[in-house]
Amino acid sequence: MDAPEFRTIIEPFRIHSVEPLRMTTPQQRRTAVQAAGYNLFRIDAQDVLIDLLTDSGTGAMSRDQWAALQHGDESYAGSPSYYLFRDAVRELFPFEHVIPTHQGRAAERILFGVLGGPGKVVPNNTHFDTTRANVEYTGAAAVDLVTSEAADPSSDYPFKGDTDVAALEALLRTDGERVPVVMVTITNNSGGGQPVSLANLRAVREVCDTYGKPLFLDACRFAENAWFIRENEAGQGGREVADIVRDIAALADGMTMSAKKDPMGNIGGWLAMNDDELARQCRDLLILTEGFPTYGGLAGRDLEALAQGLREVVEHDYLRYRIRSTAYLGESLREAGVPVVSPIGGHAVYLDAKALLPHVPPLQYPGQSLAVALYEAGGVRSCEIGTVMFGRHPDGSEQPAARELVRLAIPRRTYTQSHIDYVIETCLHVAANAESLGGYRIVDEPPNLRHFTASFAPLD
Ligand SMILES: *Cc1c(COP(=O)(O)O)cnc(C)c1O
Repeated sequence: MDAPEFRTIIEPFRIHSVEPLRMTTPQQRRTAVQAAGYNLFRIDAQDVLIDLLTDSGTGAMSRDQWAALQHGDESYAGSPSYYLFRDAVRELFPFEHVIPTHQGRAAERILFGVLGGPGKVVPNNTHFDTTRANVEYTGAAAVDLVTSEAADPSSDYPFKGDTDVAALEALLRTDGERVPVVMVTITNNSGGGQPVSLANLRAVREVCDTYGKPLFLDACRFAENAWFIRENEAGQGGREVADIVRDIAALADGMTMSAKKDPMGNIGGWLAMNDDELARQCRDLLILTEGFPTYGGLAGRDLEALAQGLREVVEHDYLRYRIRSTAYLGESLREAGVPVVSPIGGHAVYLDAKALLPHVPPLQYPGQSLAVALYEAGGVRSCEIGTVMFGRHPDGSEQPAARELVRLAIPRRTYTQSHIDYVIETCLHVAANAESLGGYRIVDEPPNLRHFTASFAPLD
């Protein structure tokens, strides 16, 4: 008998401890979402059935990560857990200085606290919301220079996270003295979870060298990005993901990181770099707000769990399952006629609310309308990535975002295929009734990052 070729890519783990889900009715959910000002961030998690708000810190840790917690050493200074963590980071990203922080945004705040400031300009393929906010908070401008392929939701170009290298070159040529650092986000979260090719990173590196600029990675989903390189970039097939990650790291001068993404943590982050003077300034700020440089806002046990997570996330069986199971959700929706961003990203499926709700204008927040409807119909919590998230500008003006997306982010190793089949059913039900969905207005909003706390009211 030939070795069978199985179609089904199974979860490469079995369940070790379970968390019950609380079932709710549509009526209970309508009441809950109204009380939350139609903002899904303000809903109690126990009123959510399938929580796809984010993949950040929501994954399941492995048996070995839980065991690593027990090994944590809580010494204030010089804990052995720090060295374990540092070495696990350096195994993939061999930077001279590894500075732990409590989250990715703390790394961003420290980095831009040193490098940002009024008059500065920070380019990125696409700034994530906290990255943009931390750049702008210093008075600097955050500019997005993503490849033109990214603007076409139906294009199947496999590396839609690529930087527009010509636009970067033009910025550095005309305005280079204002640019303290060039950022590249892998994968491009706000742009649809789309990966960046190694070839594009090399081209960005060359331009940075020409103009003498440091290149920093926002590397939250480095392992997913490396898997896409292995799958889709010429000459990369069959390589070890860890080797691809090291190639990526070798092109950069430093990184910011949220350990709540690919490092499989429930909390954590880091900042890393080669420049000694920059590291000194960053550590000074770290001590002010995060903690001593060998723990930086984390417990020793967290550092140990992250070190183990970093080993697990580059395993091929895990990544094959991870990328395939996200594609399963996206492809099932696309085949049923629901507009989704193509190709399907690594950590999330992005519904195109503009295409699904063409009757709702951008300033009536079609993504918000769709996200609320998914919650009411099935208890599925998603996240608007559109004009609510990006429409308010530092000068106070409001403009439609480039795209109106709703992100279904998949927590790592948390939901099974039947959960995802239920999500598909929920989406199909809402899509079939899309014309009945109306717009929203904002009742009140904070000055920054309004999507987290704003409240909304439905328009009649
Ligand atoms: C999550 C994320 C961040 C911020 O990290 P936190 O840990 O949430 O503070 C920054 N950049 C990208 C691309 C992210 O996905």
